[in-house]
Amino acid sequence: MDIVNELKKICPDNLLYKKEDIFVYAYDTSQNPDKIIMPLAVVFPKNTSEVSKIAKFAYKNNISLIPRAMGTNHCGATRPSEKSIVVHFSKMDKIIKIDKENLVAIVEPNVAIGNLNKELDKLNLFFPPDPSNLAVSTVGGAIALCAGGPRTFKYGNTKDYVINLEVVLADGSIIETSKNLAKNVTGYNITSLFVGSEGTLGLITKATLKLIPKPQTRLITMAYFDSLVEAAKCVNEIINQGFIPSTLDLLDKYTIQTIEKFNPCGLLIDKEAMLLIELDGFKKSVFYELEILKEILEKQGAKNIVQAKNDEENENIWRARRSAFSALTQLKPSVITEDMVVPRNKIVDMINKIQELSKKYNIITATMGHAGDGNIHPNFALDLEKEKDNFLKLKDELFYYALSIGGTLSGEHGVGTHKKKYINDAIEQNAYKLMKKIKKLLDERNILNPNKTL
Ligand SMILES: Cc1cc2nc3c(=O)[nH]c(=O)nc-3n(C[C@H](O)[C@H](O)[C@H](O)COP(=O)(O)OP(=O)(O)OC[C@H]3O[C@@H](n4cnc5c(N)ncnc54)[C@H](O)[C@@H]3O)c2cc1C
Repeated sequence: MDIVNELKKICPDNLLYKKEDIFVYAYDTSQNPDKIIMPLAVVFPKNTSEVSKIAKFAYKNNISLIPRAMGTNHCGATRPSEKSIVVHFSKMDKIIKIDKENLVAIVEPNVAIGNLNKELDKLNLFFPPDPSNLAVSTVGGAIALCAGGPRTFKYGNTKDYVINLEVVLADGSIIETSKNLAKNVTGYNITSLFVGSEGTLGLITKATLKLIPKPQTRLITMAYFDSLVEAAKCVNEIINQGFIPSTLDLLDKYTIQTIEKFNPCGLLIDKEAMLLIELDGFKKSVFYELEILKEILEKQGAKNIVQAKNDEENENIWRARRSAFSALTQLKPSVITEDMVVPRNKIVDMINKIQELSKKYNIITATMGHAGDGNIHPNFALDLEKEKDNFLKLKDELFYYALSIGGTLSGEHGVGTHKKKYINDAIEQNAYKLMKKIKKLLDERNILNPNKTL
């Protein structure tokens, strides 16, 4: 059978199959040293019917499908496997409807979250999940990974904003998981089953998202500390005092210095740690909260407290914070961003371990995290050709340590191929067996994004 000719019948103008055209789709943002496998072809369906036809064809012929949005995941979740076709959703990127009265948006999967929020902004509405590369990250990718970002502590992550999904299953059948209602407990919550499933259970072709009113005011405070331990302790104190900031991020010295070096914005580079705290809400209450927050920060030993004075300064700081990953890429050929969650009272232990491993294996490490959630991102800048073995040893020690202190493998970046090795140690065995059964039920031929997650 000529796969290309068969696919041409479904998507005549939206198909790539020449080696030089599809080479790039063997990769994604994750720079995991896994084996690189070329897909057979890349298809760009325009609508649900075409996605369904592609799935029917793949199901019949036992060909794997690799759903792909912009490939910006950090865990190898879009790496092709043997005998696979990449299903690229870039032609399904329309905002179908924004319903202000009912606070929902209906979108195709490849809408960039940044573009969605630009449209919502005009209506004073807001979709909080923010995978930090807003201009590129898509709704479909964020749903499939259950992405989070800096606002999760207050607003929750993607799963809290998905109301209803249209999904094409492995055999090509099309289902709608719920209704476009704010509440619905009629039947099992199968919508959530697809959220965070990393494209292994179905192909998302439409999503209904919950929206919230946009906060009137946002205010960023940066608090600098002489040690990471002091900064981490301060996180707990802020929460103990009843604060739920929309962002409570922790940046170490190396992250601060790298951001400032490549995107100068006045960060204090001689400090060991910084807390980036955003308060949002009504203007009066935000300024009232700010006074109390400052008192807490001072009591907890913050050496410098810097306040964004207006929206422009707010934006500059956010731009700098979002640039951390790209800034690091200027240091070494590869940057591998890891993601783990630990109980909040173990953040200091985890950061100490990261620093210890960085020294032991001599790999440049810049750590930041959404400290309010106990979610830590160590970024490793390295030359994989020379440092691969050391990195793999470091990675093993890193994740087994996180698991040993009650943590887990990912809070928002997913498991993909990159952390699959540890999954047996991260999930209770009966739960793991149940997950395997669910996968088998929905994808008996294992054609949907195989070799990821489980
Ligand atoms: C600089 C940078 C910073 C980041 N910071 C954060 C952060 O703070 N928080 C965070 O959560 N994430 C962060 N991320 C990663 C983020 O998770 C991803 O960028 C995003 O969630 C999804 O990216 P994408 O749209 O490119 O999807 P892809 O990477 O293309 O795909 C992601 C997953 O979704 C699946 N998929 C895609 N489309 C569909 C579909 N229609 N149906 C079924 N499955 C589908 C894919 O198979 C894959 O498993 C960051 C990434 C970068 C590059």
